Amino acid sequence: MTETSGVTRRGVMGGTAGLAAGAGLVLPAEEVLAQAAGGSARTVTSGPASVAAAEAAVARHAEAILRIRREVWELAELSLVEAYSFRVHLRELEAAGFRTLSVGTSGFPTAFVSEWTQGSGGPVIAFLPEYDALPGLGNAAEALQTPAASGNTNGHGCGHDMLGAGCTGAAVALKTMMQATGTPGTVRVFGCAAEEVEGAKVYFVRDGLFRDVDASIAFHPAPYAITGEISTAALAAINVRFSGRTAHAGNTPWDGRSALKGAELFGAGMQFMREHVRPTTRIHYIYEQTGVAPNIVPDFAQVWLTIRAADAPAVSELVAWARDVAAGAGLMTQTQAEFQVYYGMTELVPNLPMIGLAQAHMQARPPAWTEAEQTFARGCQREMRLPETGLATEVLPPLPLTRVGGSSDLGDVSKVTPLGVFGWPTVGMGTSLHTWAVTACGGTSIGDRASLDTARIMAGMGYDLMTNPALREAAKADLARRVAAAPYVPLLPPEMREPRGVPAWLRKTGLDDFVATENRL
Ligand SMILES: [Zn+2]
Repeated sequence: MTETSGVTRRGVMGGTAGLAAGAGLVLPAEEVLAQAAGGSARTVTSGPASVAAAEAAVARHAEAILRIRREVWELAELSLVEAYSFRVHLRELEAAGFRTLSVGTSGFPTAFVSEWTQGSGGPVIAFLPEYDALPGLGNAAEALQTPAASGNTNGHGCGHDMLGAGCTGAAVALKTMMQATGTPGTVRVFGCAAEEVEGAKVYFVRDGLFRDVDASIAFHPAPYAITGEISTAALAAINVRFSGRTAHAGNTPWDGRSALKGAELFGAGMQFMREHVRPTTRIHYIYEQTGVAPNIVPDFAQVWLTIRAADAPAVSELVAWARDVAAGAGLMTQTQAEFQVYYGMTELVPNLPMIGLAQAHMQARPPAWTEAEQTFARGCQREMRLPETGLATEVLPPLPLTRVGGSSDLGDVSKVTPLGVFGWPTVGMGTSLHTWAVTACGGTSIGDRASLDTARIMAGMGYDLMTNPALREAAKADLARRVAAAPYVPLLPPEMREPRGVPAWLRKTGLDDFVATENRL
């Protein structure tokens, strides 16, 4: 948290946080837009009727969208303590006429819900901005791995600066489109804190906040423009703690019972499980605490375990098995094993009508880049020893059902509301997320352009959903059909009322006190 020093609350709240010095690709909003519209060889096809209106609405809010993108990139705050970043979103939403319904939502001090309504009885469409950064991925907006000028070692290596700016930007643009046509409906923005650790969306769903939502829309930064039947894995996050009895390891080892031995046998047991699980299963763990010195029998050890599988029931079965493994390891070592599932996410349920909708709006304006941006992306690829292919300029055809090994808290959302989600290029092709190159590209006009493009795509999707009841019904029918085969079973344990990683000072102080404390970070 101390890494964010140098960015003052005044800067954030005033909307003029300093931009990265030396970021050669930082341009005024009009210039980013002018280039996007006609500067490079973009293939413009007509697409859905709402495309042009979405484009105009995003142009009107371009300054606000770029403020969010740039300030959140500069802040680069870690999960659960994104205390200034979420305020950047709320500031722009409130300025655009949205009402803040909740702050500190579902036990997350940095989560929020904001909405705007016109008329009554209209549909509710949700947007899902995220804004947390990753440790160790701070980077200057330069095409090489080098620290940010601010000294902040955290960085947006997953591109949540762009993700957030695109989603919140889409919400304000959609409001403008609805006002122009007198369309009734509610635009709701969920401030999705802590996606990288214990993502808030799972708690929102558990707490019923999506009960009245007709459809949800999100995008994720990616190396490609792509959507399709992509399903992320279900996941359980677990702590296993072994308690033993300490003793002098030389003089009286027989008086001791090593918690570390319990943890080691647990690890061995998990390894033996591997042969007998499906290929879609992932088991990964680390030894978090193991003891302090070899001549002291460790009386405490802790393992941090993640289990992933194709769906929630499969994860639940594996969790039950792992619980038995822990108990067995405790028995064998005469230590106490405590097994705590503290978080979980379901698999993502793709939705065909929403995929078609996203595809249409993506294809209407495929990604287009300036030569300087292509050179920048190729420079990052060269540094990462990847083929120097630059940024994607094509929208790929929708993927058939594809199960990926990673997980997302969008999974739980997709189980209770039709979800439209797509990837949009923000980094050179073939580049992994969670790398410095994503931070670097995001800090330039590549990130600006991606935020504006995705805001346009999602505002158009939102408008079509608001105005087309048949589309909403088709999306709901697709969801109903899919969850009939796999009903929603939350993997978040019911006793969890807040994420375990909220720092005590943030919880105790309360957010308003916290925000009032100027120099807390
Ligand atoms: Zn991400």
